[in-house]
Amino acid sequence: MNVDKQAFFSIEHKKVAILTTVAWYCLFLHVGLIFFFAFIEAYWLSILNVLSVTCWAISINCFATERLSCALQLVCFEVLVHSVAVCVTFGIELGFHYYLWAIACILLVEQSIPLVRSIAFAALMMLSFALLVTLDFPHLSDFPYPNLLPYIHFLNVMISGLPMIYALASLREMSINSREELALMASKDALTGLHNRRFAQRHLSNIRWFEEHHRESVYIVMADIDHFKKINDSFGHERGDEVLRIVSSIFIDCFEPPNLVIRWGGEEFLFVIHESDKYTVQRFIDLITTLLLQHKVSREQLNATLSFGVAKWQHDMSFETAVSRADQALYESKRLGRDRVTYFD
Ligand code: GH3
Ligand code: MG
Ligand code: MG
Repeated sequence: MNVDKQAFFSIEHKKVAILTTVAWYCLFLHVGLIFFFAFIEAYWLSILNVLSVTCWAISINCFATERLSCALQLVCFEVLVHSVAVCVTFGIELGFHYYLWAIACILLVEQSIPLVRSIAFAALMMLSFALLVTLDFPHLSDFPYPNLLPYIHFLNVMISGLPMIYALASLREMSINSREELALMASKDALTGLHNRRFAQRHLSNIRWFEEHHRESVYIVMADIDHFKKINDSFGHERGDEVLRIVSSIFIDCFEPPNLVIRWGGEEFLFVIHESDKYTVQRFIDLITTLLLQHKVSREQLNATLSFGVAKWQHDMSFETAVSRADQALYESKRLGRDRVTYFD
C-alpha cells in the first residue's frame, strides 16, 4: 500500500472511531429515555425508544463491520423520526428538536455517503428543525410536569451539543496529527525508511539548520552500490529491493543522530557526519564495508560492494557545493574501479 493510501485509511479509521463513540453515547442516552418516558407515562414514546436503542445498536454493529453508509442512514432515520415524534407529542418546549442540528453536522464528517446525498440528508434535518420551530403545530398532549420544561429544555441543548463539540474537537486533533504524519511520510523513503532527498534539500539547505548544527567539521559522504543494475538483472528487482533495505539497515546501525543517512537516489546514499575528521569518516566507511562483507547477501554471490566519495562541508560552503564535491569524489572512485573511497582535495 502506498503512503497516500495508508494515510487515507488511517484518517477514515479514526473518523469511524469518532462516530462509533457518538453512537454509544446516543445508545445510552436512549436507554435513559425509555425509563424517562415510562416515568411520565408516555408509553408509546417509551416503546419508540426501545426501537431507537435497537437502531443505535445495529448502527454500532454496522460501523464495526464497515457498513458505514448503512449505519449513517439508519442514524439519520432514527433521529428524524424520534425528534419529530417527541415534538409532535409534547411540543418543542422540551428541546428534542436540537438533535436534528447535531446529527446534521456529524453526518457530514464521514464520506461513505456521497457528498450531495449527505448534504441532502443534512438539509432535510435542518428543514424539519425549521418547520418545527417556525410553525406552531398543535401538540397531542400536554407535558405532565410543566415546571420541569425549562430544565429538560436546558438538558437537551447540552446533551445534543456535546457530541458536536466532541466530533469537531476530535476532527481538529486528527487534522493536526494527520498533517504531522503526512509531513513525516513525505520526508521518508517508503522502501528503506531512510530520510529522502526532499528532506535533505529542505533541511540541510536551510540557513537555520546550518547555524544550529554546523559548528565543527562536517563531512558529506556519497555512497553508491556498485553494478547494482547487474544485481537487478541477474536476481530480479525484488532481490534488488532487498539489497537496498539491507544496505540501509547497515547504515542505520552505523549512524546515530545528529549524523544523518539519506537515500539520495535509486542506489545512491548520502551521509552527513558531524564533528568529524578524515580518520573518523574512514572508520565509519570501514565499518560499513565490513558489515556488508559479513552479511549473507555478500556470501550468496550477490557481490554488493559500495563506492564512496567524501568531501568536507566547509563553513562558508553551501550544502549543494559540498554534495557536488562528494559526487565528484564518488565519480573518481567509480572511474578507478569501484569498491573504494576517494576524498575530495
Ligand atoms: P555503478 O557501479 O556505475 O553505480 O553501476 P550501477 O549499475 O549501480 O548504476 P546504474 O546507474 O547504471 O544503475 C542503477 C540501477 O538501480 C538502475 C535502476 O533500475 C536501479 N534502481 C534504482 N532504484 C531502484 C529501486 O528502488 N529498486 C531496485 N530494485 N532497483 C533500483
Ligand atoms: Mg551504482
Ligand atoms: Mg548510481
